Amino acid sequence: VTHGREVRRDPTTGAWVVLSSERVARPLPARRDEPVTAPQDCPFCPGHEGATPPTIARLPAAGAWVARAFANKYPGLRVEEAAGADGWGPHGRVRGVGAHEVIVECREHARSLHDLPVERTEAALLLARDRMADLWQDRRIAALHWFRNRGASAGASQSHPHAQIVGMPVVAELLATVCDHLAEHHARTGRELLGDLVDHERREGTRLVRDGDVVALCPWAPASPFEVWLIPAAPSPRFSEASDALVIALARALHETTRRIARELGDPAYNAVLFEAPRHASAGFRWHVRVRPRVTALAGFELATGGAMHHAFPEEAARVLRAD
Ligand SMILES: [Zn+2]
Repeated sequence: VTHGREVRRDPTTGAWVVLSSERVARPLPARRDEPVTAPQDCPFCPGHEGATPPTIARLPAAGAWVARAFANKYPGLRVEEAAGADGWGPHGRVRGVGAHEVIVECREHARSLHDLPVERTEAALLLARDRMADLWQDRRIAALHWFRNRGASAGASQSHPHAQIVGMPVVAELLATVCDHLAEHHARTGRELLGDLVDHERREGTRLVRDGDVVALCPWAPASPFEVWLIPAAPSPRFSEASDALVIALARALHETTRRIARELGDPAYNAVLFEAPRHASAGFRWHVRVRPRVTALAGFELATGGAMHHAFPEEAARVLRAD
């Protein structure tokens, strides 16, 4: 079958790739990082709710919505799919069962959430938390991913601020690798690796961007220039179980961090990606968000090694981002 929805495994790396023939129909990202859609043509603007699949959840529950969730019109994965796995020679495959939702993060057809009051980000993340908690009820979902693509070169096909949630029937290779490292540290020391990391960076100070209940820091070995990690200061395996207060702390940290990145780098495209403990592996895990500005190309070195080669030391990036 070369159409429909499948999750295929690369036998050489273990990477899972979501294939969905419906995605061929989706609008392609524009070439440049400028708004690609006028408000009157935007399916995410208020008044155009009929242009998207039906609302699954919204905030607030009544009156004008400030954030709205619905199924992706061009889903990579669907909850309606039958589960199943098989193989073909060296190749592994599971059916495209899972979930793929869109969260419109504000009413405004704005360029960026960081230009709007922080309350927009708070509502958007509270709704994301609620949707993830609900999606976990589906036992076929092994892992949940939240991400925001901002700008065409970060993969956004709509300019209206929005995020996505993907529920996967398998634990993706990168998430599995992160789980292994956090679990190994936990088994060896009895402590959480990300807790130790937060403690160390708070003491050391040079890579700290912003302190609080959610700490913002530039990671020791950034995968791209000006990468920022947002990590809860206290243990918290799943964002889907986070309190309102902690979600709001994340919103404030994300809003402030992306505002400062925009100021320093000329409003670049970026991806923000949440790491959430998978269903069956939470030992030593702490959820966190990684913000990756798209200021360098994915090049041969990155493809060859899975690592990165670039110019930006995190100590210098943090110094610049700390400045008010
Ligand atoms: Zn819009």
